[in-house]
Order: sequence, then C-alpha cells, then structure tokens
Amino acid sequence: MASTLLSPDCSTSAITARHLIPLKRKLLPAAIQFVSFERSLSSPWSPSLCLSPSASKYRTVVSAADPGSMTTLDTTAKIIDGKLISQQIKDEVSAEVTRLREATGVVPGLAVILVGSRKDSQTYVRNKKKACEAVGIKSYEANLPEDCTESEVLRHIEEFNNEPSVHGILVQLPLPRHINEEKILAGVSIEKDVDGFHPLNIGRLAMQGRDPLFIPCTPKGCMELLHRYNIDIKGKRAVVIGRSNIVGMPVALLLQKANATVSMVHSYTKSPEDITRQGDIVISAAGVANLVRGSWLKPGAVVIDVGINPVDDTNSPRGYRLVGDVCYEEASKVASYITPVPGGVGPMTIAMLLSNTLLSAKRIHNFK
Ligand code: NAD
Repeated sequence: MASTLLSPDCSTSAITARHLIPLKRKLLPAAIQFVSFERSLSSPWSPSLCLSPSASKYRTVVSAADPGSMTTLDTTAKIIDGKLISQQIKDEVSAEVTRLREATGVVPGLAVILVGSRKDSQTYVRNKKKACEAVGIKSYEANLPEDCTESEVLRHIEEFNNEPSVHGILVQLPLPRHINEEKILAGVSIEKDVDGFHPLNIGRLAMQGRDPLFIPCTPKGCMELLHRYNIDIKGKRAVVIGRSNIVGMPVALLLQKANATVSMVHSYTKSPEDITRQGDIVISAAGVANLVRGSWLKPGAVVIDVGINPVDDTNSPRGYRLVGDVCYEEASKVASYITPVPGGVGPMTIAMLLSNTLLSAKRIHNFK
C-alpha cells in the first residue's frame, strides 16, 4: 500500500475539450437529448482546485432547442456517497445481527490478529473493533509482538479456526517481513475467511460458474456502490487501474463476473490514458495521487476512486491531507458519477467486513 507523501500538484497543462454530454431526460424537455458545450480548460487548473471534492460548481448552458433561454444545470458529476451507503449497510447488518441473536442465541464474532505495533494498523484494528460493537458483533483480538514467529501466528489462527464463537478471522496486513503472508493467509479456514484473501476464495472468484465464500471487502464495497446507485455493469467497458491482490485484481474479476468487458492498467501499461478513456466505468486503485486526470476520462464515465494518498498540506494541522488517485476537480466535470476521497470507498471497506462476518455466522448456523 502506498504511503509516501506526494506533491499535490495536479499539473497545469492547458486542455480544451468539446464534450457532448448526454443529459438525463428529467433535467430537460423531452425533445432535447444532448447539450453540447465547450469545456474551456484553457486557464490552468490550480492544484488546490484539483484536490477539493467539496468544490461543486454550477454552469450555465444554452438549451439547444431554445437558444434564447439560459438554463442553469449542474454539470458536475453526481457524488457517490460512501458514508451514507456504508451507514445504510451497517444499519441493515445491525438489524440482521439482532434477528439472528433473538432467533438462535448466536452472536456473530470477528477475530483480528495484529502482529507488531504499526500505528496505522493499530488504528485500523481499533476502528474495526468499534464498528463491530456498534452493530452487535463480538470482537476478539490477538496482539502479537513484532518479533513473534510464523508458527505462533499460525497457532493463534488455528485457535480461532476451532473456536465456535468466532465466525470471521482477519489478519491485519502488512505483516512483519520475516513472516510469510501467503502461508498465514492460507492458514485461515476458508469458512471464516471474511477478508476473502484465501487462495481458494480468490480462485473461485476467478472461475466461471463458481462463487467464493467471501468477496474481499474493498472490491465488494466498490461493487456495492455501483449496485446501490443503479449503475449498469453488464456489457459496459470497465477499466481497472492497479492489479494488487487486495483491490485491483479482485475488483477486475468481480466486474467480469458482472459481465463487463474489463481492461487493466498497471505500472507497465503504455498509454494508460488512452485505455482509461475507453471506460464507461473506471476503478482506480494505484495509490498515486491525482494520477487520473479529467482528460483521461470518457464523458459520462462512472469513476470509483479507491486511492488514499497523503499529500503535503501546510494548512492542515497534520501537515498533510488525503486525496485519491483521481484529480477530483477535473474528473467531476467529465464523469457522470464519482466517489470523493475521503467519504467514498473508504467507509465501505469496514461495512463489508461486518457484512461478511454476519454472512459467515448465518451460513455456519444455517440461518436464512
Ligand atoms: P499496491 O501498491 O499493492 O498496488 C498498486 C497497483 O497500482 C499495482 O498493481 C501497480 O502496478 C499499480 N500502479 C502503480 N503506479 C501506477 C501508475 N502510475 N499507473 C498505473 N498503475 C500503477 O496498492 P493497493 O494496496 O492495491 O492500494 C491502492 C490504493 O488504494 C492505495 O492508495 C491504498 O491506500 C488504497 N486502498 C484503499 C482502501 C479503502 O478502503 N478505500 C483499501 C485498500 C487500499
């Protein structure tokens, strides 16, 4: 996962684009399907503009059918609100946890194994614990020292594998270098692999006609956002930027399972902007601040920005702030839908972890 501090410069190259934007019927009289307008980017984009998801602009366009009338339309993309959707999901999980407990006495349990004392990992684990408590899931923790052995970690995994009150097991990544991540993740029982990283789960995700027991949380969160905003996937061109085991690769497999035609862009891809511009749906998980410019996007594309990148910010008390992979200020004027950072995919990951833990408890106890 990228964690270097990056410059917030989103470049200042001048672009002039003529876009034919399909507008939703509800915004216009039925006779008008398209409004053509010049999106003049001839003045340089300020880096700060590029980085602010909160800057929402209205533009004035002249209706093609009635050039005399000035119609004010919001030409910025609709924001996909991950905070809102994740809260809805948590409420749904909470209601189901109560239903399960009242009907069977079973309380779903999630065990988290943390090795070492990385501050960011400790924060993630704390947040997961809090989120569990909020929906009635019981959390279990094993905190192991940085210098513990691989077999000690495997022993704890085995204990949780055999513990009936634990329905989900999560090993917080990254692990210290001396521990083999592949061996550790393969040690988690596939029935309790709520992170979906077990090779069998990933293998099933890749195969036609097979389904994994669990889908990795961040990719599942991306798909959930698309579904809950009624965005069609079938037959669409999707572009995934990044091919990591935890985000890029599984999200590409999920899009393919949902019948999209998928292209992948990675650090060796030539002309990534040309490939990205073909995407009706673009999911970026590269970990590079402001990699995806407005000019990389097809007008009307749906943009899901998974990246969480710290950039220097002297105005912030912490000296930095978090931005995505996508140059928001530009992209939001080209895309039809976009996720902000923060507040987009981020909150979905924990919501999906809770949902996977509930799913596991229901499956183990054969509860419909
Ligand atoms: P990673 O470093 O493991 O993988 C990055 C991928 O991006 C690699 O496949 C690499 O080939 C590709 N890449 C790197 N530079 C590129 C470039 N210039 N052009 C095209 N491709 C490029 O990272 P990761 O763990 O997959 O995370 C990616 C980003 O998503 C990070 O910013 C991370 O913080 C964020 N993330 C967010 C969540 C969340 O909950 N929202 C969860 C996981 C990761």
